[in-house]
Amino acid sequence: MTAPTPAVRDLALALGPAGLPAYLYDLDALRAHAAGVRAALPDGVELYYAAKANPEPRLLTALSPYCDGFEVASGGELAHVAGAVPGRPLAFGGPGKTPDELRAALRAPVHRVHAESLHELRVLAALTEGAGPGRPVGVLLRFNLPLDAEASRGSALAMGGAPSPFGIDPADADEAVRLVTRAPGLALKGVHAHLASGLDAPALLSVAESVVTWAETLTARHRVPLHEVNAGGGMTVDYARPAGRFDWTGYGHGLARLLAGRPGLRLRVEPGRALTAYCGWYATEVLDVKRSGGEDFAVVRGGTHHLRTPATKGHDQPCTVLPVDTWTEPWPRPAARTGRVTLTGQLCTPKDVLARRAPAPGLRAGDRVLFGMAGAYAWNISHHDFLMHPRPRFHFLTGGRTDGRPAPGPTIPGAGP
Ligand SMILES: *Cc1c(COP(=O)(O)O)cnc(C)c1O
Repeated sequence: MTAPTPAVRDLALALGPAGLPAYLYDLDALRAHAAGVRAALPDGVELYYAAKANPEPRLLTALSPYCDGFEVASGGELAHVAGAVPGRPLAFGGPGKTPDELRAALRAPVHRVHAESLHELRVLAALTEGAGPGRPVGVLLRFNLPLDAEASRGSALAMGGAPSPFGIDPADADEAVRLVTRAPGLALKGVHAHLASGLDAPALLSVAESVVTWAETLTARHRVPLHEVNAGGGMTVDYARPAGRFDWTGYGHGLARLLAGRPGLRLRVEPGRALTAYCGWYATEVLDVKRSGGEDFAVVRGGTHHLRTPATKGHDQPCTVLPVDTWTEPWPRPAARTGRVTLTGQLCTPKDVLARRAPAPGLRAGDRVLFGMAGAYAWNISHHDFLMHPRPRFHFLTGGRTDGRPAPGPTIPGAGP
Protein backbone atom coordinates (compact mmCIF):
# COMPACT_ATOMS: atom_id res chain seq x y z
CA MET A 1 0.00 0.00 0.00
CA THR A 2 3.00 2.29 -0.27
CA ALA A 3 2.61 3.20 -3.87
CA PRO A 4 -0.92 4.33 -4.65
CA THR A 5 -3.29 1.47 -5.32
CA PRO A 6 -4.43 1.27 -8.99
CA ALA A 7 -7.88 2.59 -8.05
CA VAL A 8 -6.36 5.60 -6.29
CA ARG A 9 -3.95 6.31 -9.15
CA ASP A 10 -6.73 6.14 -11.77
CA LEU A 11 -8.99 8.45 -9.82
CA ALA A 12 -6.22 10.97 -9.12
CA LEU A 13 -5.55 11.20 -12.87
CA ALA A 14 -9.25 11.42 -13.72
CA LEU A 15 -9.97 14.31 -11.36
CA GLY A 16 -9.72 17.70 -13.03
CA PRO A 17 -8.22 20.75 -11.32
CA ALA A 18 -11.69 21.67 -9.98
CA GLY A 19 -11.83 18.32 -8.20
CA LEU A 20 -8.46 18.81 -6.50
CA PRO A 21 -7.14 18.69 -3.91
CA ALA A 22 -8.93 15.58 -2.73
CA TYR A 23 -8.58 12.92 -0.10
CA LEU A 24 -8.81 9.45 -1.63
CA TYR A 25 -9.46 6.59 0.76
CA ASP A 26 -9.12 3.03 -0.47
CA LEU A 27 -11.61 1.18 1.73
CA ASP A 28 -10.75 -2.21 0.21
CA ALA A 29 -7.11 -1.68 1.13
CA LEU A 30 -8.18 -0.62 4.63
CA ARG A 31 -10.30 -3.75 5.10
CA ALA A 32 -7.48 -6.01 3.88
CA HIS A 33 -5.02 -4.34 6.25
CA ALA A 34 -7.38 -4.52 9.24
CA ALA A 35 -8.14 -8.18 8.50
CA GLY A 36 -4.40 -8.89 8.56
CA VAL A 37 -3.97 -7.11 11.90
CA ARG A 38 -6.94 -8.96 13.37
CA ALA A 39 -5.62 -12.32 12.13
CA ALA A 40 -2.21 -11.65 13.71
CA LEU A 41 -3.68 -11.14 17.18
CA PRO A 42 -4.30 -14.28 19.25
CA ASP A 43 -7.47 -15.25 21.14
CA GLY A 44 -7.72 -13.26 24.32
CA VAL A 45 -6.50 -10.04 22.69
CA GLU A 46 -9.13 -7.49 21.75
CA LEU A 47 -8.56 -4.86 19.08
CA TYR A 48 -10.04 -1.39 19.58
CA TYR A 49 -9.53 1.45 17.10
CA ALA A 50 -8.55 4.81 18.60
CA ALA A 51 -11.02 7.04 16.77
CA LYS A 52 -8.96 10.21 17.17
CA ALA A 53 -6.57 8.99 14.44
CA ASN A 54 -9.37 9.41 11.90
CA PRO A 55 -13.03 9.42 12.92
CA GLU A 56 -14.41 9.50 9.35
CA PRO A 57 -17.66 7.43 9.49
CA ARG A 58 -16.85 5.46 6.31
CA LEU A 59 -13.55 4.35 7.87
CA LEU A 60 -15.22 3.44 11.17
CA THR A 61 -17.78 1.32 9.32
CA ALA A 62 -15.08 -0.39 7.24
CA LEU A 63 -13.03 -1.18 10.37
CA SER A 64 -15.95 -2.32 12.50
CA PRO A 65 -16.03 -6.01 11.47
CA TYR A 66 -12.34 -6.40 12.40
CA CYS A 67 -12.45 -4.50 15.69
CA ASP A 68 -13.90 -5.48 19.04
CA GLY A 69 -14.67 -1.88 19.83
CA PHE A 70 -13.57 1.74 19.60
CA GLU A 71 -11.64 4.04 21.90
CA VAL A 72 -13.06 7.56 22.15
CA ALA A 73 -11.41 10.45 23.93
CA SER A 74 -14.08 13.16 24.20
CA GLY A 75 -17.82 13.60 24.48
CA GLY A 76 -17.80 14.62 20.81
CA GLU A 77 -16.08 11.42 19.72
CA LEU A 78 -18.37 9.42 21.97
CA ALA A 79 -21.53 10.79 20.30
CA HIS A 80 -19.98 10.61 16.83
CA VAL A 81 -18.72 7.02 17.04
CA ALA A 82 -21.91 5.80 18.75
CA GLY A 83 -23.81 7.27 15.80
CA ALA A 84 -21.47 5.93 13.09
CA VAL A 85 -21.17 2.35 14.38
CA PRO A 86 -24.19 1.91 16.65
CA GLY A 87 -24.03 -0.70 19.35
CA ARG A 88 -20.29 -1.33 19.23
CA PRO A 89 -18.40 -1.40 22.55
CA LEU A 90 -16.77 1.91 23.40
CA ALA A 91 -13.96 2.74 25.79
CA PHE A 92 -13.90 6.34 26.98
CA GLY A 93 -10.41 7.69 27.71
CA GLY A 94 -8.63 11.01 27.71
CA PRO A 95 -7.67 13.59 30.31
CA GLY A 96 -10.02 16.35 31.46
CA LYS A 97 -13.35 14.57 31.04
CA THR A 98 -16.12 16.96 32.10
CA PRO A 99 -18.94 15.84 34.40
CA ASP A 100 -21.33 16.20 31.43
CA GLU A 101 -19.14 13.98 29.28
CA LEU A 102 -18.99 11.38 32.05
CA ARG A 103 -22.79 11.51 32.38
CA ALA A 104 -23.12 10.93 28.63
CA ALA A 105 -20.69 7.99 28.88
CA LEU A 106 -22.73 6.45 31.70
CA ARG A 107 -25.95 6.91 29.71
CA ALA A 108 -24.50 5.42 26.52
CA PRO A 109 -23.42 3.20 28.37
CA VAL A 110 -19.79 2.79 27.45
CA HIS A 111 -18.11 -0.58 27.92
CA ARG A 112 -15.16 0.90 29.81
CA VAL A 113 -14.13 4.21 31.30
CA HIS A 114 -10.37 4.75 31.39
CA ALA A 115 -9.99 6.80 34.55
CA GLU A 116 -7.21 9.37 34.41
CA SER A 117 -7.11 10.80 37.95
CA LEU A 118 -8.30 10.43 41.52
CA HIS A 119 -10.58 13.44 41.02
CA GLU A 120 -12.16 11.81 37.97
CA LEU A 121 -12.75 8.65 40.00
CA ARG A 122 -14.46 10.68 42.72
CA VAL A 123 -16.70 12.39 40.15
CA LEU A 124 -17.54 8.99 38.62
CA ALA A 125 -18.28 7.49 42.02
CA ALA A 126 -20.58 10.40 42.87
CA LEU A 127 -22.37 10.22 39.51
CA THR A 128 -23.04 6.49 39.87
CA GLU A 129 -23.92 6.57 43.56
CA GLY A 130 -27.52 5.56 44.12
CA ALA A 131 -27.89 4.92 40.38
CA GLY A 132 -30.16 2.02 41.29
CA PRO A 133 -29.76 -1.61 40.38
CA GLY A 134 -28.14 -0.85 37.00
CA ARG A 135 -24.91 -2.64 36.15
CA PRO A 136 -21.81 -0.94 37.55
CA VAL A 137 -19.64 0.76 34.91
CA GLY A 138 -16.41 -1.07 34.11
CA VAL A 139 -13.33 1.00 34.95
CA LEU A 140 -9.74 0.65 33.87
CA LEU A 141 -7.26 2.73 35.82
CA ARG A 142 -4.88 4.48 33.46
CA PHE A 143 -1.43 4.73 34.97
CA ASN A 144 1.58 6.76 33.98
CA LEU A 145 4.12 3.97 34.47
CA PRO A 146 7.85 4.36 33.94
CA LEU A 147 8.98 3.39 30.44
CA ASP A 148 12.14 1.39 30.31
CA ALA A 149 15.11 3.16 28.79
CA GLU A 150 15.03 1.21 25.55
CA ALA A 151 11.35 1.95 24.91
CA SER A 152 11.64 5.66 25.59
CA ARG A 153 14.63 5.99 23.25
CA GLY A 154 12.72 4.45 20.36
CA SER A 155 9.55 6.42 20.92
CA ALA A 156 8.48 9.39 18.83
CA LEU A 157 5.88 10.66 21.30
CA ALA A 158 6.38 9.55 24.90
CA MET A 159 3.34 10.05 27.14
CA GLY A 160 4.45 7.93 30.05
CA GLY A 161 7.27 7.59 32.49
CA ALA A 162 8.18 11.26 32.65
CA PRO A 163 5.99 13.76 34.52
CA SER A 164 2.82 14.07 32.40
CA PRO A 165 -0.85 15.09 32.54
CA PHE A 166 -1.84 11.58 31.38
CA GLY A 167 -2.98 8.84 33.68
CA ILE A 168 -2.60 8.37 37.42
CA ASP A 169 0.76 8.55 39.09
CA PRO A 170 1.83 5.13 40.43
CA ALA A 171 2.22 6.79 43.85
CA ASP A 172 -1.59 7.20 43.90
CA ALA A 173 -2.30 3.64 42.74
CA ASP A 174 -3.45 2.28 46.09
CA GLU A 175 -5.82 5.19 46.65
CA ALA A 176 -7.20 4.74 43.12
CA VAL A 177 -7.94 1.06 43.70
CA ARG A 178 -9.60 1.86 47.04
CA LEU A 179 -11.79 4.55 45.42
CA VAL A 180 -13.07 2.16 42.74
CA THR A 181 -13.58 -0.86 44.94
CA ARG A 182 -15.54 1.18 47.50
CA ALA A 183 -17.85 2.75 44.91
CA PRO A 184 -20.94 0.57 44.40
CA GLY A 185 -21.53 2.01 40.92
CA LEU A 186 -18.00 1.20 39.67
CA ALA A 187 -16.41 -2.15 38.83
CA LEU A 188 -12.62 -2.37 38.70
CA LYS A 189 -11.74 -4.35 35.56
CA GLY A 190 -8.03 -3.66 35.35
CA VAL A 191 -5.33 -1.34 34.18
CA HIS A 192 -4.72 0.82 31.12
CA ALA A 193 -1.40 2.24 29.96
CA HIS A 194 -0.77 4.10 26.71
CA LEU A 195 2.79 5.19 27.30
CA ALA A 196 4.27 6.12 23.95
CA SER A 197 3.65 6.29 20.23
CA GLY A 198 5.97 5.16 17.48
CA LEU A 199 7.32 1.97 19.07
CA ASP A 200 8.24 -1.18 17.18
CA ALA A 201 6.90 -4.61 18.16
CA PRO A 202 9.74 -5.69 20.51
CA ALA A 203 9.60 -2.36 22.39
CA LEU A 204 5.80 -2.45 22.68
CA LEU A 205 5.93 -6.06 23.88
CA SER A 206 8.35 -5.16 26.61
CA VAL A 207 6.03 -2.28 27.62
CA ALA A 208 3.02 -4.64 27.66
CA GLU A 209 4.90 -7.16 29.75
CA SER A 210 5.94 -4.62 32.35
CA VAL A 211 2.41 -3.17 32.51
CA VAL A 212 0.91 -6.63 33.07
CA THR A 213 3.45 -7.52 35.78
CA TRP A 214 2.94 -4.18 37.51
CA ALA A 215 -0.87 -4.52 37.35
CA GLU A 216 -0.65 -8.03 38.82
CA THR A 217 1.38 -6.78 41.76
CA LEU A 218 -1.10 -3.95 42.37
CA THR A 219 -4.24 -6.11 42.24
CA ALA A 220 -2.62 -8.90 44.30
CA ARG A 221 -1.77 -6.34 47.00
CA HIS A 222 -5.46 -5.38 47.17
CA ARG A 223 -6.68 -8.99 46.77
CA VAL A 224 -8.83 -8.07 43.75
CA PRO A 225 -8.87 -9.93 40.44
CA LEU A 226 -7.15 -8.52 37.35
CA HIS A 227 -9.51 -9.11 34.43
CA GLU A 228 -8.05 -6.84 31.77
CA VAL A 229 -4.97 -4.94 30.74
CA ASN A 230 -5.23 -2.39 27.95
CA ALA A 231 -1.72 -1.90 26.58
CA GLY A 232 -2.68 1.16 24.51
CA GLY A 233 -1.77 2.04 20.93
CA GLY A 234 1.37 3.61 19.53
CA MET A 235 2.37 0.94 17.00
CA THR A 236 4.98 2.60 14.83
CA VAL A 237 4.31 4.05 11.39
CA ASP A 238 7.55 4.96 9.67
CA TYR A 239 7.00 7.83 7.23
CA ALA A 240 10.63 7.63 6.12
CA ARG A 241 10.20 3.95 5.19
CA PRO A 242 6.72 3.83 3.66
CA ALA A 243 7.03 0.14 2.74
CA GLY A 244 7.84 -0.86 6.32
CA ARG A 245 5.05 -2.13 8.53
CA PHE A 246 4.69 -2.72 12.26
CA ASP A 247 5.37 -6.43 12.86
CA TRP A 248 1.84 -7.47 13.83
CA THR A 249 2.70 -11.17 13.55
CA GLY A 250 5.61 -10.91 15.95
CA TYR A 251 3.58 -8.71 18.26
CA GLY A 252 0.71 -11.22 18.23
CA HIS A 253 3.07 -14.07 19.10
CA GLY A 254 4.54 -12.05 21.94
CA LEU A 255 1.10 -11.23 23.34
CA ALA A 256 0.16 -14.92 23.14
CA ARG A 257 3.26 -15.74 25.23
CA LEU A 258 2.26 -13.03 27.69
CA LEU A 259 -1.23 -14.54 28.03
CA ALA A 260 0.03 -18.12 28.43
CA GLY A 261 -0.43 -19.21 32.05
CA ARG A 262 -2.77 -16.26 32.76
CA PRO A 263 -6.16 -17.82 31.95
CA GLY A 264 -8.22 -15.10 33.65
CA LEU A 265 -6.58 -12.23 31.79
CA ARG A 266 -7.78 -10.44 28.67
CA LEU A 267 -5.51 -8.03 26.81
CA ARG A 268 -6.68 -5.12 24.71
CA VAL A 269 -4.78 -2.91 22.29
CA GLU A 270 -6.05 0.35 20.79
CA PRO A 271 -3.98 1.44 17.79
CA GLY A 272 -5.00 4.45 15.74
CA ARG A 273 -2.28 5.50 13.31
CA ALA A 274 -1.08 1.99 12.40
CA LEU A 275 -4.62 1.00 11.33
CA THR A 276 -5.63 3.90 9.11
CA ALA A 277 -2.45 5.75 8.02
CA TYR A 278 -1.93 3.59 4.94
CA CYS A 279 -5.43 3.79 3.42
CA GLY A 280 -5.48 7.53 2.66
CA TRP A 281 -3.90 9.71 -0.03
CA TYR A 282 -4.00 13.47 -0.49
CA ALA A 283 -4.17 14.11 -4.23
CA THR A 284 -3.33 17.44 -5.72
CA GLU A 285 -1.75 19.16 -8.71
CA VAL A 286 1.31 21.30 -9.14
CA LEU A 287 0.29 24.94 -9.63
CA ASP A 288 3.73 26.43 -10.14
CA VAL A 289 7.40 25.48 -10.18
CA LYS A 290 10.17 27.95 -9.54
CA ARG A 291 13.80 28.20 -8.64
CA SER A 292 15.14 29.95 -5.60
CA GLY A 293 18.77 30.04 -4.55
CA GLY A 294 19.54 27.20 -6.92
CA GLU A 295 16.79 24.92 -5.56
CA ASP A 296 13.51 23.85 -7.13
CA PHE A 297 10.22 24.57 -5.37
CA ALA A 298 6.80 23.33 -6.47
CA VAL A 299 3.67 24.95 -5.09
CA VAL A 300 0.74 22.56 -5.02
CA ARG A 301 -2.99 23.24 -4.75
CA GLY A 302 -3.82 22.92 -1.05
CA GLY A 303 -1.19 22.39 1.63
CA THR A 304 -0.67 21.72 5.31
CA HIS A 305 -4.06 23.27 6.20
CA HIS A 306 -5.42 20.02 4.73
CA LEU A 307 -2.49 17.71 5.52
CA ARG A 308 -0.83 18.95 8.66
CA THR A 309 0.97 15.67 9.40
CA PRO A 310 4.39 16.62 7.97
CA ALA A 311 4.32 19.98 9.77
CA THR A 312 3.40 18.48 13.15
CA LYS A 313 5.70 15.46 12.92
CA GLY A 314 8.54 17.29 11.19
CA HIS A 315 8.87 14.73 8.42
CA ASP A 316 8.59 14.66 4.63
CA GLN A 317 5.27 13.21 3.54
CA PRO A 318 5.97 10.34 1.11
CA CYS A 319 4.70 11.22 -2.34
CA THR A 320 4.31 9.90 -5.88
CA VAL A 321 4.25 12.03 -9.02
CA LEU A 322 1.71 11.22 -11.73
CA PRO A 323 2.85 13.01 -14.89
CA VAL A 324 0.18 14.78 -16.94
CA ASP A 325 1.39 15.56 -20.44
CA THR A 326 -1.24 18.06 -21.50
CA TRP A 327 -0.13 21.71 -21.51
CA THR A 328 -2.31 24.19 -23.42
CA GLU A 329 -0.89 27.55 -22.39
CA PRO A 330 1.11 29.44 -25.06
CA TRP A 331 4.01 30.12 -22.66
CA PRO A 332 6.67 27.69 -21.43
CA ARG A 333 5.56 25.14 -18.85
CA PRO A 334 7.19 25.69 -15.44
CA ALA A 335 9.38 22.68 -14.72
CA ALA A 336 11.99 21.61 -12.17
CA ARG A 337 15.57 21.64 -13.42
CA THR A 338 17.10 19.45 -10.74
CA GLY A 339 16.12 16.01 -9.53
CA ARG A 340 15.01 17.24 -6.12
CA VAL A 341 11.97 19.44 -5.49
CA THR A 342 10.61 20.94 -2.29
CA LEU A 343 6.81 20.64 -2.34
CA THR A 344 4.97 23.43 -0.59
CA GLY A 345 1.33 24.46 -0.29
CA GLN A 346 -0.56 27.70 -0.91
CA LEU A 347 -0.24 29.13 2.60
CA CYS A 348 1.73 32.31 3.27
CA THR A 349 3.96 30.72 5.87
CA PRO A 350 7.34 29.02 5.56
CA LYS A 351 5.91 26.13 7.60
CA ASP A 352 3.64 25.07 4.73
CA VAL A 353 6.04 22.38 3.49
CA LEU A 354 4.78 18.93 2.56
CA ALA A 355 8.07 17.37 1.50
CA ARG A 356 11.62 18.68 1.35
CA ARG A 357 13.84 17.89 -1.62
CA ALA A 358 11.65 15.03 -2.77
CA PRO A 359 12.97 13.03 -5.72
CA ALA A 360 10.77 14.44 -8.50
CA PRO A 361 13.00 14.99 -11.54
CA GLY A 362 11.50 17.38 -14.08
CA LEU A 363 8.29 17.96 -12.09
CA ARG A 364 6.03 20.31 -14.07
CA ALA A 365 3.07 22.58 -13.41
CA GLY A 366 -0.04 20.50 -14.06
CA ASP A 367 1.47 17.21 -12.90
CA ARG A 368 -0.46 15.39 -10.19
CA VAL A 369 1.10 14.55 -6.83
CA LEU A 370 -0.25 11.89 -4.48
CA PHE A 371 0.85 12.18 -0.86
CA GLY A 372 0.60 8.78 0.79
CA MET A 373 0.20 7.67 4.42
CA ALA A 374 -2.45 10.36 4.78
CA GLY A 375 -5.18 8.22 6.36
CA ALA A 376 -4.43 9.09 10.02
CA TYR A 377 -3.81 12.35 11.87
CA ALA A 378 -4.09 14.15 8.54
CA TRP A 379 -7.30 16.02 7.57
CA ASN A 380 -8.78 15.80 11.07
CA ILE A 381 -5.82 17.47 12.78
CA SER A 382 -5.41 20.24 10.19
CA HIS A 383 -6.21 23.94 10.51
CA HIS A 384 -8.71 23.96 7.65
CA ASP A 385 -9.80 27.57 7.65
CA PHE A 386 -6.44 29.27 7.84
CA LEU A 387 -6.24 31.49 4.71
CA MET A 388 -9.74 30.45 3.54
CA HIS A 389 -8.77 28.21 0.66
CA PRO A 390 -11.42 25.76 -0.56
CA ARG A 391 -11.69 22.48 1.27
CA PRO A 392 -10.72 19.25 -0.48
CA ARG A 393 -13.20 16.71 -1.75
CA PHE A 394 -13.38 13.23 -0.27
CA HIS A 395 -13.62 9.99 -2.23
CA PHE A 396 -14.12 6.53 -0.81
CA LEU A 397 -13.07 3.74 -3.15
CA THR A 398 -14.52 0.30 -2.80
CA GLY A 399 -15.22 -2.53 -5.24
CA GLY A 400 -13.96 -0.44 -8.16
CA ARG A 401 -16.44 2.33 -7.39
CA THR A 402 -16.07 5.67 -5.69
CA ASP A 403 -18.41 8.14 -4.15
CA GLY A 404 -17.15 11.65 -3.90
CA ARG A 405 -18.45 14.37 -1.69
CA PRO A 406 -17.37 17.81 -0.60
CA ALA A 407 -15.54 18.26 2.64
CA PRO A 408 -17.51 17.94 5.84
CA GLY A 409 -18.04 21.01 7.95
CA PRO A 410 -18.83 24.62 7.12
CA THR A 411 -17.86 25.74 3.66
CA ILE A 412 -16.27 29.06 2.92
CA PRO A 413 -18.54 31.27 0.79
CA GLY A 414 -17.47 31.30 -2.83
CA ALA A 415 -14.72 28.76 -2.24
CA GLY A 416 -14.78 25.72 -4.45
CA PRO A 417 -17.67 23.74 -5.90
C1 LIG B 1 -3.74 8.51 20.77
C2 LIG B 1 -4.02 7.36 21.62
C3 LIG B 1 -4.06 6.06 21.06
C4 LIG B 1 -3.69 5.79 19.63
O1 LIG B 1 -2.35 6.08 19.41
P1 LIG B 1 -1.66 5.73 17.98
O2 LIG B 1 -0.28 6.24 18.11
O3 LIG B 1 -2.47 6.42 16.95
O4 LIG B 1 -1.73 4.25 17.83
C5 LIG B 1 -4.43 5.03 21.88
N1 LIG B 1 -4.74 5.23 23.19
C6 LIG B 1 -4.69 6.45 23.76
C7 LIG B 1 -5.04 6.61 25.18
C8 LIG B 1 -4.32 7.55 23.00
O5 LIG B 1 -4.27 8.76 23.56
